[in-house]
Amino acid sequence: MKLYNSATRQKEEFIPLEDNKVRMYNCGPTVYNYFHIGNARNFVVFDTLRKYLIYRGYDVKFVQNFTDIDDRMITQSISENITVKELADKNIEEYFIDAQGLAIKEADVHPKATENIGEIIKLIKTLEAKGYAYELDGDVYFDTAAYKGYGKLSGHKLEDLEAGARVSADSRKKNPADFALWKAEKPGEPSWGSPWGKGRPGWHIECSAMSMKYLGETIDIHSGGQDLLFPHHENEVAQSEAATGKPFARYWLHNGFINVDDEKMSKSLGNFFTVRDVVKHYNYEEIRFFLLSAQYRSPVNFSDKLMEQSRSGLARIYETIANLAHIRSTSSADASADEKKAVEALAVYRDNFKTHMDDDLNTADAIADIFDLVKNINLLISSNSLTSSEAAGKAVELIKELGNVLGILQKDLEVELTDEVRELVAKRVEARNNRDFAKSDEIRDKLKAMGILIEDTKEGYKLKYI
Ligand SMILES: [Zn+2]
Repeated sequence: MKLYNSATRQKEEFIPLEDNKVRMYNCGPTVYNYFHIGNARNFVVFDTLRKYLIYRGYDVKFVQNFTDIDDRMITQSISENITVKELADKNIEEYFIDAQGLAIKEADVHPKATENIGEIIKLIKTLEAKGYAYELDGDVYFDTAAYKGYGKLSGHKLEDLEAGARVSADSRKKNPADFALWKAEKPGEPSWGSPWGKGRPGWHIECSAMSMKYLGETIDIHSGGQDLLFPHHENEVAQSEAATGKPFARYWLHNGFINVDDEKMSKSLGNFFTVRDVVKHYNYEEIRFFLLSAQYRSPVNFSDKLMEQSRSGLARIYETIANLAHIRSTSSADASADEKKAVEALAVYRDNFKTHMDDDLNTADAIADIFDLVKNINLLISSNSLTSSEAAGKAVELIKELGNVLGILQKDLEVELTDEVRELVAKRVEARNNRDFAKSDEIRDKLKAMGILIEDTKEGYKLKYI
């Protein structure tokens, strides 16, 4: 598989450090509000990479942090008249509601900055001891001039940064590009004890500390939005590699921006959408489908027109799934030799899908492959070349297998109550009432052969397609 590495500015063959193990860190949200669709693109894209790596047989350990202390957290907590911790707890809960809706798998670890203050202080102490950090009245800064590699990730040159930053620079700093590792306590703000007095961590240091704590000093993939490349990720590289003398992350991946109606999304333009806003008009799956409809590095435009296209695209695929379900529940025949051959030939779309996903996670073309697959299945159905339950089951399986990698197309359809299904279900209810469990199991297996699963719940039975 090839991935575009921002550090080398080219597509590279992805080879993890150790066998088939992948250590991956994605920069998570600052939990001062619901997350917006720009954040959602980041979470969905790198969740998809994680899913695809797992699909390809890798053992992935995935860490995504919650930034639960920074200026925005403090400002927002004051305006809501609650503590920073209450604000964080509330929005982390909201994060999981939207993330689950968007089929974003929970990370193996979701560390919080405030729960890793010990590791953060330890890292700053190491940097100070090695001469990469200096203290000024309880603040601690990273000394960018002391670290020779500063700028290598983003391609920025320290001299240019100095010239650009001079105007607004804090005159106490040695260099305008130096950034805060630790911030001295201000009245009313949350603070923790440290060797430099009470205070709180700067933003960049938390990701270095937590990535190293949970994944080790060198990881395979570090990802985030394009806006994080500089200065956040540049600073992460500098402070991590200065502290350990080892490479911090081997592949740096960045997703592109989201524009709204061809304009850059911004609060001041009034075109700033949280996922919670969008989900009032479109469902989560349509949002996820939209977010994957472009290759992750290219900018994507958010508009009603494109959301409508996502809606109708998904509906088209579900219609085929429903047609296949209909075949399954109305026919119990095994596939003929010709049918078997036709269904086997569909595997070419899986190969195409993998080829495109292997090419720097080209989800746009991978989605086109699913449409090609569906088009072909429709042709088989309309020419009466796909009529058996067995063949229909295999076709559904393939659509769902590829959909699952993208986190879409897993919805259970309403089971069609044909006369046959209705009759079987009635007979099973009767058998159970007579405590004839052998008979009831026999009917259950018959339904299963038709692609229908019957589940017994407290409220009675439930039917769903397998
Ligand atoms: Zn980060």
